[in-house]
Amino acid sequence: MDKEAAKRRIEELQQILNQYNYEYHTLDRPSVPDAEYDARMRELISLEEEHPDLKSADSPSQRVGGAVLDAFQKVRHGTPMLSLGNAFNEQDLLDFDRRVRQAVGDDVAYNVELKIDGLAVSLRYENGIFVRGATRGDGTTGEDITENLKTIRSIPLKINRPLSIEVRGEAFMPKPSFEALNEKRVQNEEEPFANPRNAAAGSLRQLDTKIAAKRNLDIFVYSIAELDEIGVETQSEGLDLLDELGFKTNKERRMCQTIEEVIELIDTLKTKRADFSYEIDGIVIKVDSLNQQEELGFTAKSPRWAVAYKFPAEEVVTKLIDIELSVGRTGVITPTAILEPVKVAGTTVQRASLHNEDLIKEKDIRLFDQVIVKKAGDIIPEVAGVLIDQRTGEEKPFQMPDECPECESELVRIEGEVALRCINPECPAQIREGLIHFVSRNAMNIDGLGERVITQLFKEQLVSRVSDLYRLTQEQLIQLERMGEKSVDNLLRSIGQSKENSLERLLFGLGIRFIGSKAAKTLAMHFDNIDQLKQATKEQLLEVDEIGEKMADAVVTYFEKEEILDLLSELKELGVNMTYTGPKPVKAEDSDSYFAGKTIVLTGKLTQMSRNDAKEAIEALGGKLAGSVSKKTDLVIAGEAAGSKLTKAEELNIEIWDEANMLEELKK
Ligand SMILES: [Zn+2]
Repeated sequence: MDKEAAKRRIEELQQILNQYNYEYHTLDRPSVPDAEYDARMRELISLEEEHPDLKSADSPSQRVGGAVLDAFQKVRHGTPMLSLGNAFNEQDLLDFDRRVRQAVGDDVAYNVELKIDGLAVSLRYENGIFVRGATRGDGTTGEDITENLKTIRSIPLKINRPLSIEVRGEAFMPKPSFEALNEKRVQNEEEPFANPRNAAAGSLRQLDTKIAAKRNLDIFVYSIAELDEIGVETQSEGLDLLDELGFKTNKERRMCQTIEEVIELIDTLKTKRADFSYEIDGIVIKVDSLNQQEELGFTAKSPRWAVAYKFPAEEVVTKLIDIELSVGRTGVITPTAILEPVKVAGTTVQRASLHNEDLIKEKDIRLFDQVIVKKAGDIIPEVAGVLIDQRTGEEKPFQMPDECPECESELVRIEGEVALRCINPECPAQIREGLIHFVSRNAMNIDGLGERVITQLFKEQLVSRVSDLYRLTQEQLIQLERMGEKSVDNLLRSIGQSKENSLERLLFGLGIRFIGSKAAKTLAMHFDNIDQLKQATKEQLLEVDEIGEKMADAVVTYFEKEEILDLLSELKELGVNMTYTGPKPVKAEDSDSYFAGKTIVLTGKLTQMSRNDAKEAIEALGGKLAGSVSKKTDLVIAGEAAGSKLTKAEELNIEIWDEANMLEELKK
């Protein structure tokens, strides 16, 4: 076949295969037998092999996988992927509804969708072509899993309009695929996956894309990050648009005019739950109007215009085989129940939380008891009670030890606390847990340093305090189990990169009592660098928003310790950044920009920069962004195809700029 003919045939095959794919995997209406599809795919692959220059970025041949990666790159999401607030019962839903109505009035409708139990992903399209897909990660930064996502046949590699958008969806493993996969794993003497969600996550984090391709994953897409920029006014219209573009959306969605209607619908869906071919763990309720969504805005963690209703906990009975004790980062001893494996809420459970000694006593939980295990969604299962009438006489009361199971120092109970603690500062378990915390995602976020590697490093005495991490060498790491040259290189690179982290990650990683990741950020922003924070008095700390008595005391005590000051100067010498490098809130009086102190609304589509960048740039000049136009608005910046907000601004006689005006002011 000459080149011209090959080119024509490749294009033809790509089109046919895309069509087959769409019919089979998105519409669920296959028009040809599988054998026909396979034959066309083989033909395409062999033609592309003959003419590699004719293989396009959106060719369906990529569906079969083939790329083998070294590691996943980090990706920053265009707009953050937030998680939703939870509702566990009717009252929570009524409260949500009341808050919504208080904010936007009574004219509210809700779009109700199933909450698929899978892995949230973000898909980026440039001019209609799928260019990048990422995991949710910490919401701001995820991992680039593009090649694996391409193997999901319901993800279009090209959409029906040349849009540049980021869509969000839930990748999942259908129940039948999950069961078949686990059966095979058992046959091969491999550990079966605990649930479809773990199986989906594990498949998408395969470095060998051929494995992911074999896992039969699927996806439901549920939102476009830049909906309001493309002229859509409601969540439900957004879902219809996704259908039009060629995405697979879940068809169980409904509109409800009242929260009572939502509650009724949830009851129906609960009974249908077992019939779906995929696992769901709840229902998502969203305010349908995007204008109202913007008016409602966000809390620090989640949007105020949506809530996830979680199905209630399921309970099962199984036998308690043993009680294991572990020592946490702060020395707290936690008992864990080891159970005869049992299936509950879609997962196999072998361990469950017993919380603390008091709970064991209060519920009179004994070894070999038949216990009630409770589990809801992704919440850790817990032992809820004992079936006392099923006792045979073989049960044994459990006695907490007097000594730390790891370092054998005497355990103490601090007044006012239920937990037993090991207070030996040299306790190896605490040090190891502290190291694991230091490298974890919300702390220093060092890829490739999980619990397993840290435990090895600690055992081999290569690392005994966090500063040792920054002294690790290639020669030391290569000796560890399951560490190839490539993983060592990657690991050293991510350790090196973590030195550049903004101060709040270090603060959180150090594990100061009561200082969570949010408080760490607040402190880092306020004090700018560790030297200023170190010198801060309790009074100065209390002046900071959201820093309370306990936190202030904990910070002061922490920086009084000689060994902490030594550790910090070591880290500084090793090149670890100790300054806040994130975006800073600018006070209006410190800025001479026109934006300073003004309340500004951005609407319509910007062409020169993303809306998020524009927002950050304006805030950096002391401007305040608002979601909706009101009398309090000082300035409206209208991009292309601006809609109702522009009209309202005109009605209220508010100053209106276009994008060019804004860019000019930003350049000053
Ligand atoms: Zn100990």
